[in-house]
Amino acid sequence: MTKAKNGRHHVVIGSGVAGSQAAETLRAREPDARVSILTLSSLLFYNRYDLPKVFRGHRDWREFLAYPAEYYRDHRIEVRRCSRVAGVDATRRAITLEHKEEIRFDTLLVASGGRGYVPEELSEFRPLMHPFSSYTEAVTAAAAVPERGHVIMLGGDMIGLDLARTLIDTRYRVTLVAGAQTFWPHEVAEDERPGLIAALESMGIEVIEAADAGGIASIERGAKGLSARRVLFRDGTELHGDAVMPFFGLSPSVEFMLGSGTDIERGLLVNPALRTTSEGIYAAGDVCQIWSDADKRYRFYYGWKNVRAMGDLAARNIAGDDDPWVPAQDEKLHIGSDGKIQSPFWEYE
Ligand SMILES: Cc1cc2nc3c(=O)[nH]c(=O)nc-3n(C[C@H](O)[C@H](O)[C@H](O)COP(=O)(O)OP(=O)(O)OC[C@H]3O[C@@H](n4cnc5c(N)ncnc54)[C@H](O)[C@@H]3O)c2cc1C
Repeated sequence: MTKAKNGRHHVVIGSGVAGSQAAETLRAREPDARVSILTLSSLLFYNRYDLPKVFRGHRDWREFLAYPAEYYRDHRIEVRRCSRVAGVDATRRAITLEHKEEIRFDTLLVASGGRGYVPEELSEFRPLMHPFSSYTEAVTAAAAVPERGHVIMLGGDMIGLDLARTLIDTRYRVTLVAGAQTFWPHEVAEDERPGLIAALESMGIEVIEAADAGGIASIERGAKGLSARRVLFRDGTELHGDAVMPFFGLSPSVEFMLGSGTDIERGLLVNPALRTTSEGIYAAGDVCQIWSDADKRYRFYYGWKNVRAMGDLAARNIAGDDDPWVPAQDEKLHIGSDGKIQSPFWEYE
């Protein structure tokens, strides 16, 4: 990649909601700049909020794309797919890809999101779980569960509960093994939890509190002729299902920034203008923790509206503005008049 003749080279790591919005805003604000997106994904930007549709029979990747391929050509946004960033040198303003290619930038926006977190004590059972964070994983999971089959959902964050709604609606059976990450990223007070769990049950989700069963002892392959998976609890009870799906929230994808000298707590730390501690490097979306003056701490802001607004703000500030972050959405989990839970995190356009 070479530098644009008359403009700066803005590189965006990540083609999710934040990165894609940022690239669009950068292109609008700096017509002469070179705008490049680097992504691990083999697909152009697709809406992961739509992935539960694979259980409604939608399996064609083209249906999930947010924009046609021409969009990128028309907006002169270069997208490098299947490109894993391995390291960033903030001083030299250089990115190294896994295959050792080096890319220079004038400004960098890190919008690398997060990946599904699995608690340490369950990590050895990962090969027996079906994650659901990408199109490929979603299609693989859907293929593993027969019609009207039984999904055992672990954790039950809001991404998982969104999928559970679709599964129930399409006549699958869902058993939730609930725990500390249920309803993540909502912060739920202890006295609110029983009502919210009851609301899940009234939605048709069977709920087992992991702690009541002593926690999960192991996950095993089912015996021949029986369900494909068996979850054993420490109190000796067990559950049989067609797939075990982990939904324990996200952990930020920051590993490639570790040697960059940029400050990291769990996510990349940014000031309210979304600048990291390294000159010329910004962050937006699920990967960043923004300083909140009200809370006197760095915190994550989730949800489609927030993530998109962050991508737009980071791009505007890269282009010369100096505006602060203002959260774009409500974060309160409700129970609707129909008795079902309603989350602002489920809203997207
Ligand atoms: C199935 C599913 C359903 C969801 N439903 C909801 C919902 O209902 N409500 C809600 O609030 N949130 C939901 N989410 C979460 C939502 O997708 C994220 O909050 C949002 O996508 C975050 O956007 P982002 O742009 O920050 O990062 P992401 O969308 O995670 O994008 C990260 C990008 O960075 C790239 N990347 C990561 N590491 C590297 C690297 N080393 N090199 C190059 N590229 C890299 C990835 O390939 C990807 O393109 C859902 C997520 C999933 C998976």
